[in-house]
Amino acid sequence: MSTHETACCIVGGGPAGAMLALLLARQDVPVTLLESHLNFDRDFRGDTLHPSVMEILDSIGLAERLLSLRHAKIDRLSIQTPEESLQLIDLRRLMTPYPYITLIPQVDFLDFITAEAKRYPHFQLQMGANVQELVKKNGHVRGVRYRTVNGDWHEVRAQLTIGADGRFSRLRRLAKLKPQTSQPPMDMLWFRLPRQPDDPVDAGATLRIGQGRLLVLQNRYAHWQIGYAILKDSYSHVRAAGLEALQRSVSELVPWTHDRVDQLSNWQDIAVLSVGADRLSQWYQAGLLLIGDAAHVMSPVGGVGINYAIHDAVVAANILARPLRSRAVQERHLADIQRQREWPTRVIQTFQAQIQQRLIAPALRGSASFRLPLSMRLVPRIPLLRTLPAALIAFGPKRVRVEA
Ligand SMILES: Cc1cc2nc3c(=O)[nH]c(=O)nc-3n(C[C@H](O)[C@H](O)[C@H](O)COP(=O)(O)OP(=O)(O)OC[C@H]3O[C@@H](n4cnc5c(N)ncnc54)[C@H](O)[C@@H]3O)c2cc1C
Repeated sequence: MSTHETACCIVGGGPAGAMLALLLARQDVPVTLLESHLNFDRDFRGDTLHPSVMEILDSIGLAERLLSLRHAKIDRLSIQTPEESLQLIDLRRLMTPYPYITLIPQVDFLDFITAEAKRYPHFQLQMGANVQELVKKNGHVRGVRYRTVNGDWHEVRAQLTIGADGRFSRLRRLAKLKPQTSQPPMDMLWFRLPRQPDDPVDAGATLRIGQGRLLVLQNRYAHWQIGYAILKDSYSHVRAAGLEALQRSVSELVPWTHDRVDQLSNWQDIAVLSVGADRLSQWYQAGLLLIGDAAHVMSPVGGVGINYAIHDAVVAANILARPLRSRAVQERHLADIQRQREWPTRVIQTFQAQIQQRLIAPALRGSASFRLPLSMRLVPRIPLLRTLPAALIAFGPKRVRVEA
């Protein structure tokens, strides 16, 4: 087994791991990023970069270059039911140079971030590295062992190991860190429909609700990305009802898609997201820290998972760069990261749970008396309420900045 030494070993090349690796590498910290896949191209898993992330990228000189890649923008979210229509979020009111959500495929974003990290001599990226074991010494995590696609084993020894390996985190399991889980009332089906030049321009992003159904429509350059909510664990029923029933349901909610819903002709074109939400009560142990989805799986409400993963990475880099360089990382540094990131995560998860309870669950139950909650109907009328949800979605409860 080959052995390699580094200061920081990051497991998982998603938004959290890739961003942390870049931020540490640009501060001269030796960092090795291990990603189990051979490339960053994967199933649809969201592609929203909120204003806070664009500000973070701007502060390290990358925002304009990222915006030169193909992307789309969303600056408003409206809700439409058969009886009501209101604009819930308007990012254009916010004080930021990026008053919109940038939609960029995750593969392009991760390629971009890792290409940037490769410019720094202390950065190493190992694709196809599937981490299987923690290396431990006297109860202290000292690195990991991974297997490549050829079946070879390698060991990375590190002062600090970061688990950024996503919602099914192996590192979290190996470290026996247990999350507190909650059960959102829905699962999501994600699929695309073609976009046509005469489609309503301001349709994305729109939440459409009616007759026990709910979908979100997002405008991408050549297509519409559709998130279709279903009651928790009801996918087998949706499948049994058949594709035609799903096509009909989509065209009833969004009538102008009737001429193309038949292009949704294969279940394989539909990604199923089993919606979960959880949060670790302890994000670290000696020599190990978990961030991003590995520390807290977010519900898709507000599309904030990528952003919170990146916020974790920024705070972790702010706190860890100096002690990593001087080989002086202590548990108090890891505790500080959890302290700074746990409460914003709690706040947003509470907000998401409220939306699920008050809007999504009643909408999916489809009662005849369904109305939008009063708090939402007041949003367009009260100026403070118009800004608050937009600011929460855009920045979270606390703005995160790169300190170095
Ligand atoms: C269908 C779907 C739609 C979504 N939509 C949105 C959205 O619109 N907006 C939004 O903000 N969020 C969305 N999310 C959530 C978002 O994808 C996550 O919150 C975000 O990607 C978390 O980033 P992360 O870096 O923590 O983890 P991940 O992105 O999950 O990255 C983890 C990485 O670790 C790698 N890995 C796992 N195990 C190992 C191992 N043993 N060894 C080495 N590597 C390993 C994985 O291959 C992966 O690349 C969506 C998720 C799904 C599934």
